[in-house]
Amino acid sequence: MNILRRPARYPLAVIVALACANPAFASEAAVAINPEDAEQLEDTTPELAGRSAESPEPTGPEPADAAVDAEPEVPLADAVTAAHGLAEPMELLGARIPPGTYQRLSWSATELFEGVPVSTPVLVVNGKLPGPTLCLTAAVHGDELNGIEVVRRVMHDLDPKKLSGAVIGVPIVNLQGFRRGSRYLPDRRDLNRYFPGNPNGSAASRIAHSFFNEVVNNCDALVDMHTGSFERANLPQLRADLRNPDVLTLTQGFGATVILHSDPATGTLRYAATRAGVPAVTLEAGGPSELELKEVKHGVKGIETLLNTLGMVKKRRMWGEPEPVYYRSSWVRANRGGILLADVSLGSTVRQGDLLGTITDPMNNASTKIYSPFTGRIIGMARNQVVMPGFAAFHVGIQADDEVTSEATTDAVAHDQDTSNDDYVDGMSE
Ligand SMILES: [Zn+2]
Repeated sequence: MNILRRPARYPLAVIVALACANPAFASEAAVAINPEDAEQLEDTTPELAGRSAESPEPTGPEPADAAVDAEPEVPLADAVTAAHGLAEPMELLGARIPPGTYQRLSWSATELFEGVPVSTPVLVVNGKLPGPTLCLTAAVHGDELNGIEVVRRVMHDLDPKKLSGAVIGVPIVNLQGFRRGSRYLPDRRDLNRYFPGNPNGSAASRIAHSFFNEVVNNCDALVDMHTGSFERANLPQLRADLRNPDVLTLTQGFGATVILHSDPATGTLRYAATRAGVPAVTLEAGGPSELELKEVKHGVKGIETLLNTLGMVKKRRMWGEPEPVYYRSSWVRANRGGILLADVSLGSTVRQGDLLGTITDPMNNASTKIYSPFTGRIIGMARNQVVMPGFAAFHVGIQADDEVTSEATTDAVAHDQDTSNDDYVDGMSE
C-alpha cells in the first residue's frame, strides 16, 4: 500500500502546529531556501560504488539497480495526515494487526544467498487510536548496533492502548551483515546504496526492493538509525534534507538533538523513502560495533519526544532546548600517518586554530598537530587509532550566522559531497 494513494489521515497542519508550539523551532522553520539552488543541487550526488574495505573490487550498482528518481505524485505535506474516526486494523506482511495490539512479524527478502530464507523480525504496535505510522529502522549496516537497542527500547515501551497511530520497528534490517559483524551484505555490497531497489537487479537490489515495498511503503515517516563507520563515532545527530518541508518538520520533533543538513546519497533508505513520499531522517549516534548506553538513551529520548510531538503519545514530558542546526560541516583530515590521539571529544566546541589532536609516527617519534580550520563543534570524530594520511579524523559542524542563506546551504552540500575520496563517501554518508 502506497501512502500517496490512500486518503490523508493526519493533517500536517496539526503536526506543524505542535512543532511550532515550541518557540525555539520558529526561527529554524523560517529558514528560506532558494528553490533554484535546490534545483542546482539536485543531481550532484555521486555515483556511489558499493565499495568496501573488504573488497578490492568496486562493485557498483548495475544500471538496472539505479535508484528511480520519480517525483512524488502529491506534495509530501499532504501525505502525513490528521487522525479522525476510528483506528483500523493494519495489513502488513500478510498479517492483520487489530487496533490496540502488538505483534511480532517477520520479513524475508525474496532472494537470499544460500537459498535459505532468513527472517528478519518486524515489530508492530498498532495503536487503539488513529494517527500516522512511524517506522524505525536500524542496522541497515550490520555492524551498527546502537540503533538496534534504541528500537527495542522504544517498541517495548509503547502501550498499544494509548498509542495514536502505529509504530513499525525493524531492529536489524541487514541481518546477514549483523551475523557477520559487518557493515555489508555477504556479497560486499552496501545495502544502503540500493534503495528503493529492483526486483530483477543484484542481490542487494532485490533485498532493498523487497524491504522497501513490503515495509517502507506502509510508513508515513521514517527514522533510519546509524552510527559512524570505520572506527569513527558521531555525536547523536539527525541528518536531513532541510530543503524538504516535511523532513524539516520531522527534524523539529526530536528535542535536544543536533541537526545537520545533508543531501542524501542516492540509494540510501533516507533518499529513496523521501522520494517515495515518506519523509525520512537518519539518526546517527555513536560508533560501530559497540553498544553505547549514552547514545542509546539519547536515541530513545529523541524518538519518544518525536512520538509526543507528532501527537502519537501523550502525557510524556517534552525534551526541550533544541540543539543548533548545522547547515555546513567539514571533515578535518590527517596529513601524516601515525598514531592519532584526540585532544577534543564529541560535542566539544572549538575555535579556529584550536588543537584537535596529535599524530605521532611510532618509528621516529615525530609528531604533527591537527588544528581546527573552523570555529564550530565536533559532531563526529575518529576513535584513537593508527591512521593513514588523508584519513578523515574530525567532523566539525559549522553553525551558520543568524540569517541562513541559500549560499550557506550550497556550501554545506559542496563540503558533504566531496566525491574525490571514496573513504569520505563511505565514512560520512549513512
Ligand atoms: Zn550506517
